[in-house]
Amino acid sequence: MPVLTTPTQLFLDGRWCDAAGSETFAVVNPATGAGLVRVADAVEADATAAVAAAAAAQPGWAGRTPRERAAVLHRAHALVIDATEELARLITAESGKPLTDARSEVAYGAEFLRWFGEEAVRVGGRYGPSPDGRGQMIVTRAPVGVSYLVTPWNFPLAMATRKIAPALAAGCTCVIKPAAATPLTTLALAAILHEAGAPHGVVNAVPSSRAAAISRTVLADERVAKLSFTGSTEVGRVLLRESAQQVQRTSMELGGNAPFIVFEDADIRSAVAGAMVAKFRNSGQACTAANRFLVHRDVAEEFTAALVAEVERLRVGPGDQEGVDVGPLISPAAVDRVAALVDDALAHGATLRTSRALPKNLPATGSYLAPTVLSNVAPQSRIVGEEIFGPVVTIMTFSDEEEAVTLANDTEYGLVSYVYTRDLARGHRLLTSLESGMTGVNIGMVSDPAAPFGGVKQSGLGREGGHEGLEEYQSVRYAVIGAG
Ligand code: NAD
Repeated sequence: MPVLTTPTQLFLDGRWCDAAGSETFAVVNPATGAGLVRVADAVEADATAAVAAAAAAQPGWAGRTPRERAAVLHRAHALVIDATEELARLITAESGKPLTDARSEVAYGAEFLRWFGEEAVRVGGRYGPSPDGRGQMIVTRAPVGVSYLVTPWNFPLAMATRKIAPALAAGCTCVIKPAAATPLTTLALAAILHEAGAPHGVVNAVPSSRAAAISRTVLADERVAKLSFTGSTEVGRVLLRESAQQVQRTSMELGGNAPFIVFEDADIRSAVAGAMVAKFRNSGQACTAANRFLVHRDVAEEFTAALVAEVERLRVGPGDQEGVDVGPLISPAAVDRVAALVDDALAHGATLRTSRALPKNLPATGSYLAPTVLSNVAPQSRIVGEEIFGPVVTIMTFSDEEEAVTLANDTEYGLVSYVYTRDLARGHRLLTSLESGMTGVNIGMVSDPAAPFGGVKQSGLGREGGHEGLEEYQSVRYAVIGAG
């Protein structure tokens, strides 16, 4: 699927079509700043048409057997795996991420299709006597209904399959709105789901440069039962308010500010290896990216020196060149934002440990930023409180476990924490003392389609993946049958 033959229209009711206003918007390659292709730009009328198609398809899809729904997901999984290289190149072209990261994303994204294909046939319930013996209680689960799925640009395939797969498994139809920066992968996925046998109207895709207007229209529609959003906490708050009108069910996967804590007894080599994954996957543009390195003062210098050596080995370049570890950021504005965070940290007294000059042959119009390591970062620096979303390491030190936990929890976010220690008892204690939805102990990556992914505090509501991910698309029904 070369980039230019990938679909570029809206996908409504099983058909490709232009936007109602016939407008298009450009998709840009962050590696070069050049336009890749233009994509149909959905307007409010298209959003309403997508909801109508999903609503019309809803009863039929909910009426299919779990096995039939699972079969569509299994076929889609096989098709995604077969198209790994094409999809990876598409992801790299529109998001900029290195091909190795893009290939990993295809494997990860495909796994949601397989996992929820398996979970589709494991919908349970409960049956038992009421405590007072007046009757038999039956608890079942039903599809929640038409679901509106909004995805970010940083994992354009995996964030889409993480929502579409459980929705379809549960018997829900959907309207998906990808980020304007990365609509092509979503459109390619819609084509794959269609080929896999998803009936007309079950999956509808509405790329748009007018995200706010599209979401407002969809969420005001009483036929829409559910919102699942992945993106920034700021936009999440807006959508939560809008979803209140129709009291829609919501799943919100929002921002993060992950602490990465290295204790004095940690295996430093392993901690550095984990740090490279937790920080540099996707060039630092992940909600799970380690944002604040908290290192015990006795090992701070050893850890920092070893990490700097690894960072200096990273190859920066266009994502489609083999061997590149760090690609461009999503846009020039993202580079400016991260550079301003670094400047602010330096102004607050941080020490610049490394930030090597970028290779000279990089396209001048690409969005590149040199991997950077800062130590001695002051807690009041903006970079400590905000999501960095770029290849910058910030290191602070602590003296004991209590201080580490206080620093780690000093944020409104609570998505993921990483801990390196050889002390298992301490590892267990931290599972409760750290305020985060997910914790990785002696590992730099927690994401797994079989696990419930999600945050506490202002990192979100609900879970994606695991069996919990399916339940987000089901409503609980209870009935009691009297003794007669
Ligand atoms: P974003 O919030 O800007 O955009 C996310 C989606 O919302 C996009 O589809 C965008 O078009 C849409 N959107 C933007 N403004 C909107 C508005 N006013 N009204 C309605 N829709 C709007 O986020 P992003 O820059 O695409 O992605 C980065 C963010 O996503 C980071 O904060 C990151 O932590 C978060 N993220 C979270 C997870 C998670 O699982 N918790 C995963 C990936 C990314």
